[in-house]
Amino acid sequence: MSSNVKVVVVGSCMTDLVSYTSRLPNPGETIHGHKFNIGFGGKGANQCIMATRLGASTAMVAKVGKDSFGENYLENFRNNKVDITHVGVTDEASTGVAPIAVDDSGENCIIIVAGANLKMSVEDIKNAEKMISEASIVVCQGEITMEATKAALVTARRYKVKTLMNVAPAIENLDPEIYKNSDIFCVNESEASVCTGLSVKDVNEAKVAATKLLSLGCGSVIITLGEEGALYTTKDGSQHITTEKVRAVDTTGAGDAFVGALAYYFAYYPALPVTEMISRACRVASISVQAQGTQSSYPSRDLLPQVLF
Ligand code: ADP
Repeated sequence: MSSNVKVVVVGSCMTDLVSYTSRLPNPGETIHGHKFNIGFGGKGANQCIMATRLGASTAMVAKVGKDSFGENYLENFRNNKVDITHVGVTDEASTGVAPIAVDDSGENCIIIVAGANLKMSVEDIKNAEKMISEASIVVCQGEITMEATKAALVTARRYKVKTLMNVAPAIENLDPEIYKNSDIFCVNESEASVCTGLSVKDVNEAKVAATKLLSLGCGSVIITLGEEGALYTTKDGSQHITTEKVRAVDTTGAGDAFVGALAYYFAYYPALPVTEMISRACRVASISVQAQGTQSSYPSRDLLPQVLF
């Protein structure tokens, strides 16, 4: 029987532990903060939640620790109606966490402890093979083990399921198989720069980097350009897709909103030109930057203009 899950995200879950203080502590110092927030993050989970908010039937393939953060994360997925059949719970590591300190000027210090995310194995992907084989698109990022990511892309390809690889955070000397198994390779400017060793600070430099990325074997390349939109490159050339200017209040997770929305359009509107999918994903991401938070800033379908559907 088909699982009807169209978007499968193989990736990370992280709990953000955010302390707000007047200034950041010095080494060895203890200071008082004035506010504390717990947020659901991790690039994989963010992208999955974004696709779900737009109306996609989604599943997460991930791992959390056997602790309260893990339990809360599973609850977050259930509340958002994400299929968690393949979210494993391990007692070998803690749930991924990101303790963050933010001072009054907005400066921050972040420690990421990826924990259970780094326990993702090829075996976990094998267990999810049926679900992957029945999906429309599989989405991966760079926050879990590269063996698991590679296995997910290769498995999807074997069943002719579209693959969307978002190399975030940036990875130098990426395994060549990752490029070869990515139908759509999506990065922001700084990630494009790390992957290629080239400067990527504007549209023209992005075109040069995208051509280099394409030559490494991916089917197409998307480089997101913040408020400048995104660049789409295939063997036929590059197209710059601009986005409307907005007043951004918090751009955290904008890239994940873009990737999650793009996955939704590939899965549900496969006949749309890819440039139109990118334009709509930019619009969704630009709405997310107008609210505080990461997953909490992702708009749901009923709050979005009808032209996006
Ligand atoms: P990341 O969040 O990974 O750094 P970008 O900054 O390139 O990625 O942002 C991803 C997408 O989010 C962009 O392609 C754009 O659609 C949207 N976006 C980001 N910042 C803004 C902004 N200031 N105004 C409008 N859209 C934005």
